[in-house]
Amino acid sequence: MKKNDWILIAAVLVVAGIFFGMHLLTPGVKGGVAEVTIDGVLYGTYALDENQTVTIRDTNRLEIGEGKAKMVWADCPDQICVNQKAISKEGESIICLPNKIVVSIVGGDKKTMDAVTY
Ligand SMILES: [Zn+2]
Repeated sequence: MKKNDWILIAAVLVVAGIFFGMHLLTPGVKGGVAEVTIDGVLYGTYALDENQTVTIRDTNRLEIGEGKAKMVWADCPDQICVNQKAISKEGESIICLPNKIVVSIVGGDKKTMDAVTY
C-alpha cells in the first residue's frame, strides 16, 4: 500500500468515528422524560436516561431503565397498566385508570403541548 492509501483509510475511520459518535449523541433518549400525573395533577418527571424505580404513592411502581419506562407493579384490579409494554417515544403513555395515573413520555423541546387528555 502507498502512503496515500493509509491516509485515506485513516480519514474514513475518522469520519466513521465522528458519525458513530454523533449517532450516540442524537437526541431521542437524551432529554426525554417520563411525566407522571395523578388525577391530572403532575406528580413528577423522571429522566429516561437515568435508571431508577419510581414509587407512585403506594399504588404503582414505575421502572425506568435503558431509556424506557415500564409499570412493573400496581395494586389496581385490572393490571392493564402493568401489561402495557415499556414506553420510550414521545407521545406514548401508560394509563392506570383505577388509580387515575398517567405516565407519558415527553421528549425534549417539541410537541410538549400535546399532553394526554382523558
Ligand atoms: Zn393499573
